[in-house]
Amino acid sequence: MKLSPIWLALTALLLLLPARSGCDTLKAHAIADVVGLDGSSLGHADFSQTSHGVLIEANLHGLPPGPHAMHIDNVGTCDPKKQFASAGSHLSFEPRAHGYFARGGPHEGDLPNQFAAQDGTLRASTISNAFTLGNGTKSLFGPKGGALVLDSAGDDYLTQPSGNSGKRIACGPIKRTIAPGTRRAPSQHAHK
Ligand SMILES: [Zn+2]
Repeated sequence: MKLSPIWLALTALLLLLPARSGCDTLKAHAIADVVGLDGSSLGHADFSQTSHGVLIEANLHGLPPGPHAMHIDNVGTCDPKKQFASAGSHLSFEPRAHGYFARGGPHEGDLPNQFAAQDGTLRASTISNAFTLGNGTKSLFGPKGGALVLDSAGDDYLTQPSGNSGKRIACGPIKRTIAPGTRRAPSQHAHK
């Protein structure tokens, strides 16, 4: 096969062009596989860094219907045998009170209540700019990681130390899936 000089020149030009422009850094992302007190899977939650905070999208099942407190705890260990006390306490970068309505509150890890349907499913979509998925001082990934935890009842956003929200019933260690600053691979399709 004989290629004309113009085609050879164009091919060479395309090969010299960078595969992507400079705006192809992926947004940080993390996932939590959530388990119940019997150790069985209750679904998962996605954490996506946005320019306005961390978007948390949970898709859970097997929960008692009604309101449930949801929070980020400061240890990424979910041990059902310890009723998830292994997850530590609510994420708080400095000593602060619990709850949106509390003087000196809230903890950075405090999140709005979520509600399970009659069939036990819970689809949560919420956002927080109190922490990031980055590596800086506001990272939810502390020295011991982090966990997403749901309690048996709703948070009154005021009572210490955790909003009178009953016991912990669901817990998922938060694991990085895309570290901050990760470059998109040339062959990778657009991240939705
Ligand atoms: Zn709290």
